[in-house]
Formats: sequence, C-alpha cells, structure tokens
Amino acid sequence: MPELPEVQILVNQLAPRLERARIRAVESRDPKIKLDRHLVGRRIRRVRRQGKNIVVDLSGGLHLLVHLRMTGWIEFDRLKRYRAAIHTTRGTAYFEDARRLGVMQVVTPEQLDRALKKLGPDPLLDGCGLSELQATSRPIKVALLDQRLVAGVGNIYASESLWRARINPRRRSDSLQSGELRALGRAIVASLRRAIAYGPRIFEAQQFAVYGRKGRPCRRCGTMIRRLVQSQRSTYFCPRCQR
Ligand SMILES: [Zn+2]
Repeated sequence: MPELPEVQILVNQLAPRLERARIRAVESRDPKIKLDRHLVGRRIRRVRRQGKNIVVDLSGGLHLLVHLRMTGWIEFDRLKRYRAAIHTTRGTAYFEDARRLGVMQVVTPEQLDRALKKLGPDPLLDGCGLSELQATSRPIKVALLDQRLVAGVGNIYASESLWRARINPRRRSDSLQSGELRALGRAIVASLRRAIAYGPRIFEAQQFAVYGRKGRPCRRCGTMIRRLVQSQRSTYFCPRCQR
C-alpha cells in the first residue's frame, strides 16, 4: 500500500505535468467514481499531498481528493484497465486500481477541510510533535498506523522508524518519555525523507532496515530481525536494538 513517501513521489511526478493544465474531459469507468462534467474547463492550480491523500486544487473553488488505498496509482501512459481518466490540455492522467478500493472524488473546500481535519499532523508538512501518541495506551507500532494521530505513516515506515529510534514496537504509547518521542519524530522524518529520495525507483530499489527482513541480520548490530503480528499486521524489529 502506498504510504507517504510513495504518494509524495507520485505527487512530484504529477505536479509538473498537471499544474496549469486545463481539464478537457473526464471519464469514469466505475460507478463508484463520480466525476461530473462541472470539472471540464477548470484549470489545475496545484497538486499536493496531505498524509496519504492527493489533493488537486482546481480553479473556481473545487478540489479532487484522491486516496490510493491498496493498489491505486496514477499514470500518464494509457493503460488497458483504469477506473477513471482526467484528460487535460497537457496530457491524460489515468487512475489505475486493481483492487478498486481507492477513492477519487470531487469535493468543495468545506468537504476538503472536513476530510483533512480528521488527520493528525503530517510529519513533513506540520512537524512531528507526536504528543497525541501519549494519549493512547495502544502499542506504539499500532498507534503509529492511526492516521488521526500521525498522517502518512503506514506499516512499512512504522517499523522502519521504530528501529531507527531504537524503540520496541510493543511499548505502550503512553509509556514513552518525551525524549523518546522526540527521537521517534526525528526517526519518522528521516525514514520518510530517505524513502522519497529514491524517487520513481522506490519500488525496485528501496532497501529497508527491518521491513520484510525476518531472519536477516540487523544492519546495526547483526542480530536476527524478528517478525511479530500486531493488529493483524506484520511488524519487523531488532530484539537487541529495540528492547
Ligand atoms: Zn540491532
């Protein structure tokens, strides 16, 4: 599932292609995606990200809100199968989504506000205070996946950040000291920035510290990485670095 870095990399590809383009036509091949004709003629002012959401600001005070969920992605090359397409004066953006769980919807500024207000701080846009994490007794790894507490971190970067900050994923969130939370905040930002630096090569080239590395040596101490399941999701950690 695309997390903050993958979404940012996609936004970085979309923005230079779509910004300042005018929408010529919209096409939905899926009744769940309703793109009305009111979009036609509007100019795309900005393509940006908030958490794992892509926000496309349009002229005349409308927005396109996109969430990729499990398998969503946007391509400029024409695909055989796609759920929706936005045809613009600067090319066509195709929304592909094999499992069809992604969301693409037209929203008013008020609806956009309401949707984004539900999100916690975005580590790269709003800083990473993480004070909300102290208000929950859930394990820290599980709490990090809650988009109302931190927006953009998913299963991969939760494991990666906790390893970087040397915090055990099973620790109760409300047991973390303020120094540990600060270290975790820095670790989250560093893990996300490192991933974004891969650019479009991220899916082939990315090397993780712990994610998916069960039984392989920790890159810091050589101890075998372990996997555990928390809330039905895999967590990877080093039992020595993250006591
Ligand atoms: Zn280690």
